[in-house]
Amino acid sequence: MHAGMCDVIRLELPTPFPVGPVNAWWLDGPEPVLIDTGVHTPSSLEALEAQLAARGRRLGDLRRILLTHDHYDHAGAAAELHRKSGAEICLHARSRLGARWSPEELAELGRFAARCGLPAEVLARAQASFRRAARVVAPSPPDGALARLAGGERLPSPLGPLEVLATPGHAPDHLCFLAREAGLLFCGDTLLADITPNPILHLDPEDGFRRRPSLLEYLASLEALAGCGARLAHPGHGPDLPDVAGLVVRNLEFIRERQATFLAAVRGGAETPHALARAVFGELDVTGQFLALSETVAYLDLLERDASLEVEWWRDPIHLLPAR
Ligand SMILES: [Zn+2]
Ligand SMILES: [Zn+2]
Repeated sequence: MHAGMCDVIRLELPTPFPVGPVNAWWLDGPEPVLIDTGVHTPSSLEALEAQLAARGRRLGDLRRILLTHDHYDHAGAAAELHRKSGAEICLHARSRLGARWSPEELAELGRFAARCGLPAEVLARAQASFRRAARVVAPSPPDGALARLAGGERLPSPLGPLEVLATPGHAPDHLCFLAREAGLLFCGDTLLADITPNPILHLDPEDGFRRRPSLLEYLASLEALAGCGARLAHPGHGPDLPDVAGLVVRNLEFIRERQATFLAAVRGGAETPHALARAVFGELDVTGQFLALSETVAYLDLLERDASLEVEWWRDPIHLLPAR
């Protein structure tokens, strides 16, 4: 079979999250590859096996599982699919598959959110809702099943070699996979049809007491994808993306506009990250407030880089000063 002519089978798998279904991609051939796995729930596993069976394919034939990032909807079923197929699991060295954050690290994230001005009861309720969601987290796969990646590798696939692109931003461990010959990009949550992915306030997997500049990293990742030469991208949610370079431009425009909105709100008197989040996003439920704070903090890095404001990160609460 000519490389690039293989079937790419889209498996649409249900999740219990507001994001709706997630896409997993089966690259068909004598040694099939699966990109992302869906969540670790019986209904997702049933859907995956039923959709494969409808195409006359068997999970047991799977050779390799590639994970775009360790969020539950993309990576949750990796251990289970490995158990059923023996497939190797390829993932970023930073991925924390099935691993929980330590209580000390969670406490550090809590202290940071509190210094951002997030009320303690909002944080407590947001953390409780994340703990409920974490019930669908999978058990960890055995270490021997894992192949750790850093970006720059080439992995064999029925589409020809897949180039591994490190694209942090949406998540610190995010990878995209490029089938250069076929002009196909598997972009996970780095590019989506209708929304610019939200960088979630994240502890650094390499050091839970630091925070990563997720939006600055995301901008660099967008730039890399704009020039990657793909003619079509298969995302982690929703429909295929036919114009990768154009979508990158639209994302960059969105980010520039939102940056201006944040700056205007700081000039309008928002003095803490939480106050800024409320000024920009208005009233939200507790999870929404945490996500809004995540996005706000990410934009503070960008505004600080552009010398539009000063952030006194060391103060409690953290204090924002527009540049004069
Ligand atoms: Zn994600
Ligand atoms: Zn996702």
